[in-house]
Amino acid sequence: MTYEHYIGLERSELLPKIQAKMSAKRFRHVLGVEQAARSLAERYHYDTEKAGLAGLLHDYAKELPDVDFLALIDSYQLDPELKKWGNNVWHGMVGIYKIQEDLGLRDQEILRSIEIHTVGAAQMSLLDKIIYVADYIEPNRTLTLTEEARRIAEQSLDKAVAFETVHTVAHLAQRAQPIYPQTIATYNAFVKYF
Ligand code: GDP
Ligand code: FE
Ligand code: FE
Repeated sequence: MTYEHYIGLERSELLPKIQAKMSAKRFRHVLGVEQAARSLAERYHYDTEKAGLAGLLHDYAKELPDVDFLALIDSYQLDPELKKWGNNVWHGMVGIYKIQEDLGLRDQEILRSIEIHTVGAAQMSLLDKIIYVADYIEPNRTLTLTEEARRIAEQSLDKAVAFETVHTVAHLAQRAQPIYPQTIATYNAFVKYF
């Protein structure tokens, strides 16, 4: 199915709507994640259009002000515990409500992959894994870790999820940052594949 099937807009009509919501750098990033998601979808036999659209939309809410996220948590009666976190957790977990409001996206599989693209989950669908990993290996990311993650993602998606999660948890712990409980659940479920 094409992007238009899911969102009522062709790609060329959707791009300016996304671009208007973010910096040029972040827009380049989402285009990179779209490309990486399409290529992982081919590699692992998933719908390339569905993966590409999820990649394109995954950071749609990243530049939404904190007050707007807090208002969305109230209006959709989400877990009040979420309010203790910040943009890093909100732009996915709460961002999906903004995407539904602004763009009318209703596909639950795409929405779920965007919801958990930062923190993962103990149980992840093929699309969830594609978006989680595509975000980490997209062409504009150029760390040594990124190059290693790309090689791993060619061999095993589960191993790539494990690699990314181990490094994210270590990165956060190194900086004494709080770790969202669902991130720890992802770590515990996938660490065996590392
Ligand atoms: P981006 O939106 O493309 O920058 O990538 P992500 O959505 O994957 O991650 C956004 C930020 O959230 C990164 O700086 C991660 O290190 C951070 N992050 C990932 N997991 C957690 C977590 O469990 N807790 C916190 N506090 N931050 C996290
Ligand atoms: Fe993100
Ligand atoms: Fe991202």
